[in-house]
Amino acid sequence: MQPQQLYCYTCDSDEHHRPLTENEKVWLRDETGRRKVDEFFMCTAPKCRNVRSGFNKRPFDPVRRVPLPD
Ligand SMILES: [Zn+2]
Repeated sequence: MQPQQLYCYTCDSDEHHRPLTENEKVWLRDETGRRKVDEFFMCTAPKCRNVRSGFNKRPFDPVRRVPLPD
């Protein structure tokens, strides 16, 4: 899927989101125990990195933010 405008729960506005990288998918699988994480996007607003799915603006409580790469 391509980057797209989606509502970001933590920014409280429509922001650009991109699909997760392979490394980020591994991280999210570890975090959530989910096997399938292809539907998730990351907010690319500065310092946000909040994760949402294409359909659910707030799939996690508390919210999850993609860690910065090392
Ligand atoms: Zn955001």
